[in-house]
Amino acid sequence: MRETKSTCPYCGVGCGVIITSEGDQITGVRGDPAHPANFGRLCSKGSTLHGTATAPVKLHERLRQPMQRLQRGGALTPLAWATALDTVAARFATIAATHGPDALGFYISGQLLTEDYYVFNKLAKGLLGTNNIDTNSRLCMSSAVAGYKQSLGADAPPCSYEDFDHAGCLFIAGANPAWAHPILFRRIEDARRANPLMKLIVVDPRRTDTAEEADLFLQIQPGSDVALFHAMLHVMVWEGWIDAAWIDAHTAGWDALKRQVHGMGPREAARICGVPAEAIVQAARWFAWGGADTPPAEASRRAATLSLYCQGLNQSSSGTAKNSALINLHLACAQIGRPGAGPFSLTGQPNAMGGREVGGMATLLSGHRELTNPQHRAEVAALWGVDAVPEKPGHAAMAMFEAAARGEVKALWIACTNPAQSLPDQALVREALAKCEFVVLQEAFGGTETAALADLLLPASTWGEKEGTVTNSERRISRVRAAVAAPGEAREDWRIVVDVAQRLEARLRPGRPTLFPYATPESVWNEHRETTRGRDLDITGLSWARLEAEGPQPWPCPDAAAPATARLYTDFRFATADGRARFVDTAWKPVAEGCDARHPFALTTGRLRDQWHGLSRSGTVTKLWAHAPQPVVQLHPQDLARRGLREGELAELKSRRGSLVLPVQADARIAPLQAFVAMHWGEAVLAGRDAQGRLRAGVNQLMHGKVDPQSLQPELKHAAIAIGRATLP
Ligand code: SF4
Repeated sequence: MRETKSTCPYCGVGCGVIITSEGDQITGVRGDPAHPANFGRLCSKGSTLHGTATAPVKLHERLRQPMQRLQRGGALTPLAWATALDTVAARFATIAATHGPDALGFYISGQLLTEDYYVFNKLAKGLLGTNNIDTNSRLCMSSAVAGYKQSLGADAPPCSYEDFDHAGCLFIAGANPAWAHPILFRRIEDARRANPLMKLIVVDPRRTDTAEEADLFLQIQPGSDVALFHAMLHVMVWEGWIDAAWIDAHTAGWDALKRQVHGMGPREAARICGVPAEAIVQAARWFAWGGADTPPAEASRRAATLSLYCQGLNQSSSGTAKNSALINLHLACAQIGRPGAGPFSLTGQPNAMGGREVGGMATLLSGHRELTNPQHRAEVAALWGVDAVPEKPGHAAMAMFEAAARGEVKALWIACTNPAQSLPDQALVREALAKCEFVVLQEAFGGTETAALADLLLPASTWGEKEGTVTNSERRISRVRAAVAAPGEAREDWRIVVDVAQRLEARLRPGRPTLFPYATPESVWNEHRETTRGRDLDITGLSWARLEAEGPQPWPCPDAAAPATARLYTDFRFATADGRARFVDTAWKPVAEGCDARHPFALTTGRLRDQWHGLSRSGTVTKLWAHAPQPVVQLHPQDLARRGLREGELAELKSRRGSLVLPVQADARIAPLQAFVAMHWGEAVLAGRDAQGRLRAGVNQLMHGKVDPQSLQPELKHAAIAIGRATLP
């Protein structure tokens, strides 16, 4: 029996695991007591990880060899790796030569390791000359990225998990860590036990399990967060709870913001948000004073407030404004750069952070550089050894599929994600995939909705079988290690990319040294480290040997002999040109698709406690189905009564884009005229469950693809729908 230390592949908490294996079989998983994210604990998903490797029946069988489909809708036939790699290189080279490199697109994943991300990005931007590379992290974190950058000057979450132990007030907005980040929630519970005076404020349209624990719960209307945050600031200004001297010394833009929030008093916000004005005042008081009801004797020694936020803020057509409006509160009260204080975005996926670090998105470049900055493009071109990095911005996730549906993007290479289930506006996404001349899917799991629409499938290794690194929500980089060999002919993602890249180089730059000389993921990592030299996330002092010797480390870590940095901005110098943080004065805007008489319900989507994304992995574990055995639509009991529905009966949900039939479940924790459906189910999983086939499509067909104008993140948290009794044929 062997033991291998690695990292959980599910959420952005990034818990350390110890895998036990015998031969080529993973036999067990337990928490790594030495890992600083979880200290040995695992949640229901993490503790059953070995079951995903040993389950006798898979929802989506592992891909074991390359497969091709000679005609759309036809059967898959196996082919040799060499032929598959030649085919991808030939089709991509031909389409680029005929239509230009922007006819190519890459849609990758926050499940990939940093090394995978790095080579994908270099292939697209450095070798092929297109910035059309984006990721499902666009659905997860891009509003947090844009918010940090415009408010603090860099995409750098300033806090660490240790800050829970120092906070007097925890302000959780648009996040349900009790379900989506369970080990963090255990740490929050520990911190509250240690400090019974700590106040927990939760802001959410649903009374979640996290909200059940709150000292103050604000059940706001979907999309009204900016109005709430502005009103809290209004109260802080009116009551003199801000820190004027700190604002003067360390920020810019205060006067404009003060004018903006002047018109958003608690009564006005109460009308928009649907919560009592008194609750807004109480939230402002606890936020300003770190959970205390009154100021300390010395106002400058106020207790600390830590905010946690996730998709409820990010997946919004006002996502960037929501992030910055919350950061405004921290700046106004000097609640940042101290133990227990700061705005702390939680990442959904295990390596959404790593993808940002390598610039693996249509709008970013390596080492937190900006695509729009000519000097940054020149630096990256020099680091990569290419003539130039293209200037034209690439298509972000939704725009990439819209361009494909228009026939502009003609070839898509999708890796480790399932856009035919997970993107909103499914009709458009499927039209895009059908219209593409060539769709290649690099995946561990066959049988997904996207696999059914791809021309070529490349089998990839997955958790427990591959080596590399990931970065969790607190900027901590952990090693991912292989415990067993991948099944069949499956290969590591970075190696597949390098193999295609070298074939493309033979066509595009014959006779020149390869840009992809990597023999191991560590060699990719070392090149990535060099791209961070002198940048805010500098990790030149963090070798794999150091990670081996000292365990997971946060960035920045520029000095191999000095400790890494757990907390940022402790000197109150921010990452802007003048070192001052910026107040952002964006006005509140309603959701992109308002409810009306025909579509009176506000539909929101989210995660279940025991499942993950499209169920490819978590759905193989029988135990995890006990929590929620089938998809349902949750409605307030009043709404069931009004529509004459009883628990378990089928309702039809209709949006402007599609319809879906689901059993109804009464839940008084959902506000009236709102509905909740979990995001996990798609047609591949639901196939065969309903003789009429009416339960077969996932909730994302109902959602719209409108995006935040700055972050380009779609508004997956809200669509207007109608709900009525289903009439089955
Ligand atoms: Fe894995 Fe997240 Fe659970 Fe930790 S909290 S065990 S990272 S799913």
